[in-house]
Amino acid sequence: MIDNNLEVQDIIQKKLSGEIFTIVRQAADEMQLECYVIGGYVRDIFLYRPSKDIDFVTVGKGIELAKTVANKLGRKAHLSVFKNFGTAQIKYKDMEIEFVGARKESYQRDSRKPIVEDGTLEDDQNRRDFTINALAICVNKDRFGELLDPFDGLKDLENLIIRTPLDPDITFSDDPLRMMRAIRFSSQLGFDIEPSTFDAITRNCERINIISKERIIDELNKIVLSPKPSIGFLQLEKTGLLDIIFPELVALKGAETKDGVGHKDNFYHTLAVLDNISKNTDNLWLRWSAILHDIAKPATKRFDNKLGWTFHNHNFIGEKMIPGIFRRMKLPLNEKMKYVQKMVGLHMRPQVLVDEDITDSAVRRLLFEAGDDIEDLMTLCEADITSKNPNRVRRYLTNFKIVRQKLKEIEEKDHIRNFQPPIKGEEIMEIFNLPPGREVGQLKSSIKDAILDGVIPNEYNAVYAYLIEKAKKIGLTPKK
Ligand code: ATP
Ligand code: MG
Repeated sequence: MIDNNLEVQDIIQKKLSGEIFTIVRQAADEMQLECYVIGGYVRDIFLYRPSKDIDFVTVGKGIELAKTVANKLGRKAHLSVFKNFGTAQIKYKDMEIEFVGARKESYQRDSRKPIVEDGTLEDDQNRRDFTINALAICVNKDRFGELLDPFDGLKDLENLIIRTPLDPDITFSDDPLRMMRAIRFSSQLGFDIEPSTFDAITRNCERINIISKERIIDELNKIVLSPKPSIGFLQLEKTGLLDIIFPELVALKGAETKDGVGHKDNFYHTLAVLDNISKNTDNLWLRWSAILHDIAKPATKRFDNKLGWTFHNHNFIGEKMIPGIFRRMKLPLNEKMKYVQKMVGLHMRPQVLVDEDITDSAVRRLLFEAGDDIEDLMTLCEADITSKNPNRVRRYLTNFKIVRQKLKEIEEKDHIRNFQPPIKGEEIMEIFNLPPGREVGQLKSSIKDAILDGVIPNEYNAVYAYLIEKAKKIGLTPKK
């Protein structure tokens, strides 16, 4: 019996009209297995979010059903069976299709690994994290399209609400990763977390400690990549989770006042910068650069009677803090981290350029140090403008526009971005018959400085003449 209203049925029938659902239906009917599409895929149907991951749950033999489906799909289907987990996956075209037998889970206090037994569809829905993730649609022929929604998930989808199906304290204590997932969905989808669910996260926040760093960072990165990441970060902070997983960020909170002089609250400032940059980039690492750009402000904060609050070298100290933070949070310790370090280290430079006069040689040095990441650096600096004063914002943006223009002119003229001096170390050794050593290094860096400072153009002959002259001063002459 199909008892859902017409509009819902219309959406379901359209979405399930594809080949894959026809084949799963035939296979399940032949094997006389009850079978349902469940979880994220069903949720995303009603959110009109395209999704390529489909989860099927069957009452009984999930793996066998997957094998029959794979046979019917033919050579283009790739089946993997995970016997230990009782699951099977088929990769077909651009889809990832999971099959699992319905299960019942019970948890012990010190682990997120449940005891798993075979169960009914209802058992399987009970173990789901949120009402909106517990929806199931039957695919068997005589009930095709029937929606099973025991927790009113559809209503929560309409009202944009994240809520656990059962007692939230038990749901979160059983698997504390769900606390991160609640906040991640809220940030990704722009949903509110229902108050008693939210309070349960606050009560259970310490339990996040039993979850692996890898799983936590997966969810955190999804928050970072959401349209307005501050939604997630503010909830992480409010529930106490942020203090546990990312205390350095919480340390930015607060605005001290001394002798009537205050400074801005760098936590809220950082979140504003993150939201700003998220309007202009989906690059996860550029977003992380925004999160970390002021991370060393607490460590460098001083009060000076003349200058007021200062944060000297917070960019360099921040750059140095990053490997420790990345290591602990299990973020990658590779070129992505180096990129974030570079962004944080350089994030003051375009502003200094404006303050001190935009000379050609300062622009060349910035181009040289930022290389191909110069555009990203400017995107970060523009996002860093969070003043509430519209005149001030306009002035900063205009200044940065001038910097961008100047960067473009100088790059077109001097090609500094991926700059390599036209005479390299080996050639210097060859010309003066020198062994590798300090003198070669000195000559190399004086060539680089002369080009960046505009003393000589970035061309072979000019560089050669300059080199001979410099070498002469330290008593070296070419061998021929
Ligand atoms: P996305 O794929 O966008 O990350 P999703 O909800 O599909 O979101 P998956 O990890 O693909 O997340 O999980 C699929 C389904 O499995 C979920 O919709 C939910 O029903 C269930 N699920 C996943 N993780 C958990 C968990 N930790 N606790 C309970 N149920 C979960
Ligand atoms: Mg999914």
